[in-house]
Amino acid sequence: MGAQTDHAVVLRLSDYSETSQIATLFAQRGGKLRLIAKGLRRSTRKRFAVGLDLLEYGVVRYVRARGDAGLGTLAEWTQLDAFLGLRRALLRQYGAFYAVELTDRLTEEYDPHPELFDALVELLRGLATDEPPALPDGRPGTPAALIVRFQAALLRAIGFAPVLRQCVDCGKPRVRDTAAYFSSTAGGLLCRECQQRHREKRRLSPRLLDLPAQAQAPEDWFPLLDYHIRHIAGTAARTAKRLSTLIAQTRQR
Ligand SMILES: [Zn+2]
Repeated sequence: MGAQTDHAVVLRLSDYSETSQIATLFAQRGGKLRLIAKGLRRSTRKRFAVGLDLLEYGVVRYVRARGDAGLGTLAEWTQLDAFLGLRRALLRQYGAFYAVELTDRLTEEYDPHPELFDALVELLRGLATDEPPALPDGRPGTPAALIVRFQAALLRAIGFAPVLRQCVDCGKPRVRDTAAYFSSTAGGLLCRECQQRHREKRRLSPRLLDLPAQAQAPEDWFPLLDYHIRHIAGTAARTAKRLSTLIAQTRQR
C-alpha cells in the first residue's frame, strides 16, 4: 500500500525500542493512527526524532498498517502549528492534554471522525490564543467555555451525547425548578420518579438546566460532562481533577 497524506494532531508519543518511537496521531481523514517512527532517538524525551511534538498540528505522510490495527509507518511530518500559546497558562495546557487524552482513548484506529478532528483543532487554536473568539451561541470564548464545547463535540462524535431536555426513561419534558438527576448509564436526564429505578446517577442543580444557553457557566457544565465521559471511558482522564479545579477557579463572582 502506498503512502497517504493527511492533516493530523499529535495525541501521544511513546518509546518503542532503542531506536524507534510510536506516535499516536488523530488525522482528519484517517482517524486515529499509530505510527512507528524509526531513527535515532534524541536524548530529550520531549522531542521526537522525526521532529514532532505533543499537541502540535501538521501534515503527516504515512503508510497504513496491513490490518485494521497495528503499527503503520511514519514517513514524514511537517508542522503547521505548534500552538505555543498553550504554555502560557496551566488551564489552557491542561485543557489541551485533557482533549488529546480523551480523543486517544475514545476513538478507534482508522475510524475517521472529521467533525471531532475539527473540534480538536479549533480547541487547540482557541486555547493557544490570548483572545479566544466568541462561541457560536454568543457566549464569550473563554478557555473554560472552549473546553466544555469540546466535551460536547466529543460526546456527539462517539454517539454518547446526553439527553437533557426530557427524561430518558419516561420521555416527560423537563419541568423548570424541579430536582433533576443525571445518569450516565441511562444516557441523560432522569425525572424524580424514574431516578428511583437507577443506581448510577447524580443530582443536578436546577440552575444548570434552567439557565438560558448564554448564561450557562462552563464551571458547572465541565464536571457534569466529565462525569459522563469518565463513565464511558471507564476511568477519569489523568488531567480531569486538576482541570476541574482550575476551571472552578474561573467562576466569576
Ligand atoms: Zn421519567
